[in-house]
Amino acid sequence: TTFSDLGLPATIVAALAKNGITVPSPIQKMAILDALAGRNVLGRAQTGSGKTLAFGLPMLTRLASTGTKPAAKRPRALVLVPTRELAFQVVDSLQSYATVLGLSVRPAVGGTPFGRQADQLRRGVDVLVATPGRLGDHLRQGTCVLEAVEITALDEADQMADMGFLPEVRDILGQTANGGQRMLFSATLDREVQSLVRQFLADHVQHST
Ligand code: AMP
Repeated sequence: TTFSDLGLPATIVAALAKNGITVPSPIQKMAILDALAGRNVLGRAQTGSGKTLAFGLPMLTRLASTGTKPAAKRPRALVLVPTRELAFQVVDSLQSYATVLGLSVRPAVGGTPFGRQADQLRRGVDVLVATPGRLGDHLRQGTCVLEAVEITALDEADQMADMGFLPEVRDILGQTANGGQRMLFSATLDREVQSLVRQFLADHVQHST
């Protein structure tokens, strides 16, 4: 199986090759087709499995396929992560592919100036990579609105549960469109993560590595 076989556009396949990525990892082989088809996806995968590209590349590809520009304060896709370090890693991992498709990816995390993030959000962001705490602040301040979010990915959901973020995560997911696509990746699927899946990932397909 190649990345082309999985349905990714030639521009992305070329960008992957430029970054030395030519063979899809197991989770990528399993999840990319379903994610590109717009299905809700539950992925059981560890760090290092290539999960970021498994949800990120289909997300970017689907956003680019409509050619819509993001409105002020209204990101078109959301990636929720437990820590600021992971947020920066996800932004880094997706940046070159987003650029190829003419899309923007920006972090919204604590410990960095709120005003500058609010300015970026006002100028329009395609993919917002956020920690729940800081995103909650933006939602309460009105500097970000989630009603235009078409695709949401939750990365390391078990970590978010362990850190006590699930109430905020539920509140955030409740503000995204019901008909949107949702993907959840987690190393473990304990009770708390399962209840999140039941509440927010209707008719999902599950892939485990
Ligand atoms: P992740 O599991 O998303 O944190 O990815 C771990 C690392 O593997 C990242 O540095 C990716 O750039 C890299 N990576 C992702 N997919 C592949 C692949 N198919 N082949 C080689 N490296 C990859």
